[in-house]
Amino acid sequence: MVGRAKPARAIYDSLLSQSHLGKCPFCGFGQASTLDHYLPKAKYPQFSVLPFNLVPSCKDCNTGKSTAIATTAEGQSLHPYFDHQNFIDDQWLYAKVRETKPATIYFFVKAPEQWDDISKERVKAHFNAFKLNSRYSVEAGNELVSLRDVLVNYCQLFGSEWVRKHLEIEANSSASQHSNSWKTAMLQALVASDWYCDGGFQ
Ligand SMILES: [Zn+2]
Repeated sequence: MVGRAKPARAIYDSLLSQSHLGKCPFCGFGQASTLDHYLPKAKYPQFSVLPFNLVPSCKDCNTGKSTAIATTAEGQSLHPYFDHQNFIDDQWLYAKVRETKPATIYFFVKAPEQWDDISKERVKAHFNAFKLNSRYSVEAGNELVSLRDVLVNYCQLFGSEWVRKHLEIEANSSASQHSNSWKTAMLQALVASDWYCDGGFQ
């Protein structure tokens, strides 16, 4: 147990500790409460107990992900700990406001131009495999409800121009922490929407 198991245990502990604030690294918002097999154990039993194949994840990401294994490099979802830093640093997740009453948000992937084609396809595969558009839209919908009260107050106290200013401050703060969180994408979309800032929020 000591010799060979020791380095593996150290890796395992470090993987667990990297689960940022207990958040699921696949979706970025769920509570990481289970260990997800990055490569499905049905197809790769030999990898099922290797630490690199066990990633803390939330229940929805763990159970919702298709067990069908990607047969191409571009079809492989992102590995939270071993993939290139570009997937974390460069923004690829964006959103747009739908001018509905109340406003709704939808999300999409737009990878940086300079990325290679396989990386571009992989973020899309990740986004689709974990059904992130519909799950992020639900989170955003809840957030817009509480944001409404804040923005109505800003509007009444400081004037309507403060609606966008407030959202800009929030968007920049969120982007500096997480380039690809649903919240960053949502706030940027709100800032970019004249319709929303000019009263759509109410
Ligand atoms: Zn998750």
